[in-house]
Amino acid sequence: MMRNKLLVIMILLAGTSAIVSQDPITDADYTFEKAVEGSKAPQKILDELCLLNVTYYSTDSKLHRGQLVIAKDLKSDVEKIFEVILKEKFPVAKCIPIVKYKWSDAASMADNNTSAFCYRTVSGSKSLSLHAKGRAIDINPKFNPCIEKGVISPKGAKYKVANPGTFSHTSAIYKKFISLGWKWGGNFKSLKDYHHFFKKDSK
Ligand SMILES: [Zn+2]
Repeated sequence: MMRNKLLVIMILLAGTSAIVSQDPITDADYTFEKAVEGSKAPQKILDELCLLNVTYYSTDSKLHRGQLVIAKDLKSDVEKIFEVILKEKFPVAKCIPIVKYKWSDAASMADNNTSAFCYRTVSGSKSLSLHAKGRAIDINPKFNPCIEKGVISPKGAKYKVANPGTFSHTSAIYKKFISLGWKWGGNFKSLKDYHHFFKKDSK
């Protein structure tokens, strides 16, 4: 009798944990206001942005839920791209609005974080980055670093096409971006920015 009861309890517990493990792990759960808090962006730009919830498998092979702050008119593109990311089980390490890193792009990159909006200039220049308008996304920067004149950032990153979570011309996610009119930093001539996808304003 005791043994049977124990067995029933064990089965019930196993069932519960199976259900729980299907729930995505929350990487980010901001409100829009919190996700842009402390940004130096003018109100005009903030008005053009939205907060998008995205679901993906992370490097632990588990389902995660994160968020992106992106230009409103790019929302449907990014939803379509994350459908492919999910279907392909392309690992996205984490997807957290850059406010968590106190608006430091370097800190976000070093943490292999995927993000879009960050009100900043292009690294090493005075002109505004497309990230400043939420029109560029950086995905898995540690697997897809920026390489300029032999200098790799983030530090210690390696670009190996065979590794999961890495982009190349044959990856389904790359093809989806291109089909929706986006461009890839991996196609730049002067430097290679393998994590960087962008779509300019058509205005
Ligand atoms: Zn970028």
